[in-house]
Amino acid sequence: MADTIFGKIIRREIPADIVYEDDDVLAFRDLNPQAPVHVLFVPKRAIATLDEAGPGDAELLGKLLLATAAYAREQGLAKDGYRTVINCNEHGGQTVFHLHVHLLAGRRMHWPPG
Ligand code: 5GP
Repeated sequence: MADTIFGKIIRREIPADIVYEDDDVLAFRDLNPQAPVHVLFVPKRAIATLDEAGPGDAELLGKLLLATAAYAREQGLAKDGYRTVINCNEHGGQTVFHLHVHLLAGRRMHWPPG
């Protein structure tokens, strides 16, 4: 897949406010936060969209979600609650084509979303 801004962040070619890293996942603060806490969790091995994920990505996607939940718990966000979002393609609002989980917290979220 084509390189993206997140690939450059993973390779440390451009700066980001990194808050979590393990062998498979990197997490950094969103440049344009939509909540008091807005962190992006990205797999180091890029998948462009959720639509392009396949059975061979199951373990990586599981690790991505579990890393997000563990971070939220460690940051004390889980009791009040939080929202996770994966945008897919144009109608989903995806702008960076390297699959990522948005973790949004620190305020009450509304449903349905706009
Ligand atoms: P999407 O719209 O693809 O679901 O989410 C992309 C997110 O990446 C947006 O919330 C946007 O603010 C964020 N973003 C775009 N470019 C950068 C960047 O260079 N650094 C960081 N930290 N976030 C970015």
